[in-house]
Amino acid sequence: MATTTPTIVILGASFAGIPTTHKLLRALPSEYKVILVNPSTHIFWNIAAPRAVARDNQFSTDNADVFAPITPGFAAYAEDRFEFIQGKASAVDAATNKVTIKSVDDEGVEGAERVVEYAHLVVATGAAGAGAWPFKAVGTHVQTAKALKDCQVKIEAAKTIVLSGAGPTGVETAGEIATLYKGKGKKIILLSSGERCLPMVREDVGLTAQKLLEGLGVEVHVGVKVTTEVAGDEGLTLTLSNGETMVTDLHIPTYGITPNTQFLPAELLDESGSVKVSAHMQSTVQANIWAIGDAAAVKQKKTITTKPMLEAAVENILAVVGGKGEEAFKEYKDEETPMVVPVGGGFAMGTGILNKWKVWGVLVWFVKGRKYFVANAKNVALGKVYGGGQTV
Ligand SMILES: Cc1cc2nc3c(=O)[nH]c(=O)nc-3n(C[C@H](O)[C@H](O)[C@H](O)COP(=O)(O)OP(=O)(O)OC[C@H]3O[C@@H](n4cnc5c(N)ncnc54)[C@H](O)[C@@H]3O)c2cc1C
Repeated sequence: MATTTPTIVILGASFAGIPTTHKLLRALPSEYKVILVNPSTHIFWNIAAPRAVARDNQFSTDNADVFAPITPGFAAYAEDRFEFIQGKASAVDAATNKVTIKSVDDEGVEGAERVVEYAHLVVATGAAGAGAWPFKAVGTHVQTAKALKDCQVKIEAAKTIVLSGAGPTGVETAGEIATLYKGKGKKIILLSSGERCLPMVREDVGLTAQKLLEGLGVEVHVGVKVTTEVAGDEGLTLTLSNGETMVTDLHIPTYGITPNTQFLPAELLDESGSVKVSAHMQSTVQANIWAIGDAAAVKQKKTITTKPMLEAAVENILAVVGGKGEEAFKEYKDEETPMVVPVGGGFAMGTGILNKWKVWGVLVWFVKGRKYFVANAKNVALGKVYGGGQTV
């Protein structure tokens, strides 16, 4: 349905999309409407996923605190200025500025389709993990909460678990499972395709992670990755890149992320599926399409980098709306950022890097290992952190 009200559509309501929506609503001329689209009614604090997939009742009952509802934070805006659509973008026609949105219900069942004409489109649809594991939202709130429970059951039932990928997600998840089941006869193997754990940071940080995991009984194999996985009577047979095979009850892929951008025209995307953007977070192909967060073609795909990305995008959209040119635009600098990696949540169990300095385990435990910053889920959902927002 075409509309005469100038409308900005934000696709994806997570770390990038929610603060962007708040910031725009607070600064845009009053004739503008902002529509926020997301399949889930709740933000998923996936930072805590390594613990939430392994253990229940860690973040209040049923791990409920890893979710926070999105719409209460928008309650104070006028109804004709803001709309939340529970749904998913399924197509974009960049020539006519139209986005097709399919509604979904809480069970993920698709419903009516709606076409919205946009003045600007912000792609904040993030990225999905390699497997169906809920290291990112897997759909609606109900679906992701169920997926977390299913993982806990699978992990509990498995006698042998292979995690492939020794980046932060693999290291943290292996640490959580090993801590929970230490001394209970579960075999846990972590595979790194690189020469060590955390191959993206300096060597001593990766070696510390490996030592901590080995102390918890995890076997770490480096320089190998899974090439095929075949289910049989004895379990899953994994063939590795070095030709060896491994039989396991459970395989948890933790590597790689794929941008959720399949609904966009191919010419907007690079070979990885990320939206090609300038330093202004503006599509290099369509001037009224912007991309931020994990969906954008940037090197640093992290929660903490969503902030400078969205700040640039918002300022630049407002500049365009205000009739200003590129000289008023703000740039995002795709620079290296800190990384802290808890290993199991025990005191001083963790490592990381901050401004090229190795971080003490005790600091990692204190800032992240105890609770994975989960109290901030509500604050991001309400728009109180990363900019914009209002108190409800
Ligand atoms: C296990 C794990 C732990 C992490 N820990 C940290 C950490 O400690 N620190 C850090 O800085 N980074 C961390 N990260 C990275 C961080 O999670 C991402 O950088 C961050 O989620 C990016 O936010 P985003 O808003 O761009 O996308 P996402 O958080 O991926 O959210 C995208 C949203 O868009 C929705 N969506 C998808 N498709 C559509 C569609 N077609 N239409 C509408 N909506 C759609 C999704 O359902 C989702 O709600 C971690 C990542 C993982 C996997």
